[in-house]
Amino acid sequence: MATGNIDSTNSMTTPLRPKRGVPEGLWQQCPGCQATIFGKTAELRLNTCPECDYHWYITAPERIRQVLDEGTFEEWDANLLSTDPLGFSDKKPYSERLVAERKRTGLRDAAITGTGMIRARRVAFGVTDSAFIMGSMGSVVGERLTRLVERATEQKLPLIIISGSGGGARMHEGILSLMQMAKVSAALANYHESGGLFISVLTNPTMGGVAASFASLGDLCFAEPKALIGFAGPRTIKATIRIELPKGFQTSEFLLEHGFIDRIVRRHDLKSEIARTIDYCGK
Ligand SMILES: [Zn+2]
Repeated sequence: MATGNIDSTNSMTTPLRPKRGVPEGLWQQCPGCQATIFGKTAELRLNTCPECDYHWYITAPERIRQVLDEGTFEEWDANLLSTDPLGFSDKKPYSERLVAERKRTGLRDAAITGTGMIRARRVAFGVTDSAFIMGSMGSVVGERLTRLVERATEQKLPLIIISGSGGGARMHEGILSLMQMAKVSAALANYHESGGLFISVLTNPTMGGVAASFASLGDLCFAEPKALIGFAGPRTIKATIRIELPKGFQTSEFLLEHGFIDRIVRRHDLKSEIARTIDYCGK
């Protein structure tokens, strides 16, 4: 699965992450073209490769910095925290894993939601982050997003959600995790009914329950270039149906061609493109 890339790339932007290979900020190998890139050069380009335009993983707080007007973000529901309803334990107890993940990533769960301005237009804004337990959609992710959508409905705000997450259900929370897909989707149906504008932004990778619920329900779906987007990963599908998959299967470009997404937007253009779309839709 493409989430393997995340471990090797996010040391550049997540200072709490243990470092591997080259020292942080000096040189990075681009997963797109294998070129060795000076970290600072990529950083100045919003963490994209100067050679092939590969879009690196960036953290949720970094996405907020890139898309919202400086200092305008107000977080909602930051105090919602997962409990451990099943007393689940894999390599370590889930309750301990949550504490460790919070410390390692600086996040309180895999989604951040709130309100802010995009070129002076107020929006409801959510972003998920694959660094926190693979960006899985536990009850806190689902509840934060649902409340975000409900407030966007009440306050008649355009809704922007950037899916920066690998995103399956979080097995540690069992059925409580699984029902989040339906819950967020139902809130989005109400939002849609009320005439709201939902722009869903898909990034590398958007898979599993995230792709199968809110991320695919945008009135407009934007995607970053060459992102892996799908439900099950290509290797799983290939192993199941035993046929050769088409070239570029599950990439943004393939999905654009087949009508699953509306537009590929480079990271540099995302803020302007969202602002333009909000104006165009008269929201
Ligand atoms: Zn590259």
